Amino acid sequence: MAPPDNANLPARPARKLAVLACMDARLDPAKLLDLKPGDAHVIRNAGGVVSDDAVRSLAISQNLLGTEEIVLIHHTDCGMLTFTDDELAAKLEAETGHKPSWPLYAFDDLEANLRISIEKIQASPFVPHTDNLRGFVYEVETGELREVTPT
Ligand code: ZN
Repeated sequence: MAPPDNANLPARPARKLAVLACMDARLDPAKLLDLKPGDAHVIRNAGGVVSDDAVRSLAISQNLLGTEEIVLIHHTDCGMLTFTDDELAAKLEAETGHKPSWPLYAFDDLEANLRISIEKIQASPFVPHTDNLRGFVYEVETGELREVTPT
C-alpha cells in the first residue's frame, strides 16, 4: 500500500496553530479555518472546554511542537448549554449506574464561557504563548464565525 500524501509532512503544524473546539458534528474547524493536513492541531471535546486534558494537549502543542497561536471555537445550540453539571451527572448515573468522578463543565452563557476559557488558558503556566489567543462563536444557524472579544 502506498503511503498517504500526509506521510511526508512534518509533525510540527505549519501554521503554528492549535484549535480547541466543541466536538459538535455540525462544526467543522478545518473548513471554517481553511486548514489542510499538516496545518494545525485540532483538540476537541464536548463544549470545547478548557479541561485539564485540553491544557495537557495545548502544553504539548506549544512546548514540544512549536505552536504559538490558539483559536477557541464554541457554538450556538451547544448541548452543554442545556443542563447543569448536577443534572448531567444525575442523568449519567441513572443511565450507567455510575457517578462520574470528573467535572462535566456545563455552562449557561456562551460568550461568558469563552471569556472564562481564554482566562483559564492565560493563567496556565504550561501554555506560554497567549498573545495570539482568540475566541469565536460558530453560529450553526448562519454558518458564520463571530469573534468574542475579551472584556
Ligand atoms: Zn457543542
